[in-house]
Amino acid sequence: MKAAYEYAGNLHMHTTYSDGAATHAEIAQAAIRAGLDFVIVTDHNVHVTGVEGYYYDTMHDHRVLLLTGEEVHDTRRSPQVNHLLVYGVEGELAGYAPNPQGLLSEVNDRGGFAYIAHPNDPAAPLFGEDALPWVTWDVEGYTGIELWNVMSEFKTALTSRRSAVRGAMELSRVISGPLPETLALWDRLLREQKKVKVIGGADAHGGSYSIGPITRTVFPYETLFRCVNTHIVTSMPLSGDFEHDKQLVLSALRAGNAFVGYDLPASTKGFQFVAQGHKTEAVMGEVLRIGHGVTLQIVAPQFAELRLIRNGEIILREVDITHRTYIASQVGAYRAEVYLRFQGKRRGWIFSNPIFVIE
Ligand SMILES: [Zn+2]
Ligand SMILES: [Zn+2]
Repeated sequence: MKAAYEYAGNLHMHTTYSDGAATHAEIAQAAIRAGLDFVIVTDHNVHVTGVEGYYYDTMHDHRVLLLTGEEVHDTRRSPQVNHLLVYGVEGELAGYAPNPQGLLSEVNDRGGFAYIAHPNDPAAPLFGEDALPWVTWDVEGYTGIELWNVMSEFKTALTSRRSAVRGAMELSRVISGPLPETLALWDRLLREQKKVKVIGGADAHGGSYSIGPITRTVFPYETLFRCVNTHIVTSMPLSGDFEHDKQLVLSALRAGNAFVGYDLPASTKGFQFVAQGHKTEAVMGEVLRIGHGVTLQIVAPQFAELRLIRNGEIILREVDITHRTYIASQVGAYRAEVYLRFQGKRRGWIFSNPIFVIE
């Protein structure tokens, strides 16, 4: 496919229907202010109907496409691990939660797809927070994993009251990349030739986050929507027609035609990772035959450190550049990473989905 359009969205958030603080309409306004093109609301164990559509700001100048998915997990399990982000399914799935494989099969049977949420979520015992990782890995039928979950990364800073307060006051101090174990997990799955795709999500709740008995802090939706987002690439533009655009967004996410971008240090808009073979082109998430060789191209929106990774191994690393091409002569899952310095620290900025080069 030739990608001509890019749209930024967030795929993990909660409303008052579960444990979030805002309504769908309020979330839509926050997303518009943050400049997002789409959001998918994923309340815990409830699929909310009748709220999908385009929402506009008061001046009617800007709009956001709001869709609903669901974050499904077994509430009777202790701790409540195995959270699954489900997209593209109409109807309730919470009843399938106790059996992760049954849930995944049902998602696929109903024409939807699923990403494993916060696969390596840490515990924060000082604050009474359980670890909520995915633990049932002998399953199949998931499209991918949530590579970068802002709340999971924030929990890594909850090692003392002081660092928690500092992190909560300035989220950008903490947020600097996917958890290393999640990156390693992804590469391991890719080495096993599983075509695992990734998304990044806010996991926005909008409410207060308890830090001990005294301090309570708030991460507004808008703040989180300016943080880690998923950018899709498409061959057709969003038209304004709800049904058409819903299918366009969902099919890009199902195919992994997307990258994860940390939009706070600088907008990640304009990033590209494409491959050219003999008379064919591929974008992130797609498969390409190697033939006589494939040319991979990375384009960063500004000068940065670019990395190309094949089956988990760094095969190219260059600093202070915006463009790089690479002739691939081996099959494998190729993915790109971009790093940026921000507030005195090196940050993960962009993580592309793989392009799968095959025999
Ligand atoms: Zn969750
Ligand atoms: Zn969540």
